[in-house]
Amino acid sequence: MLHFHTAQRAVANYQKSERKSRFMHWIVNYIRSLFCKHDFEQLLSSDLYAHSSDSMPCGHRYVYRCKKCGYTQKIVIW
Ligand SMILES: [Zn+2]
Repeated sequence: MLHFHTAQRAVANYQKSERKSRFMHWIVNYIRSLFCKHDFEQLLSSDLYAHSSDSMPCGHRYVYRCKKCGYTQKIVIW
């Protein structure tokens, strides 16, 4: 049982640090966005198809990136 608990704790610690780093990443992006007047450029646009046999796309996906801070924004239009 001791080994089981040790492993469980290790997993819990890993998950905690993972969540924290993701949270930090979000915070950094958020703070950056407060000080940046985003200057977006289109990174890519692609058509979305419901079925690979469709000839007409049913949606479009656009990805924009801020030239100044690197913040990326994905927009999907159906
Ligand atoms: Zn920006």
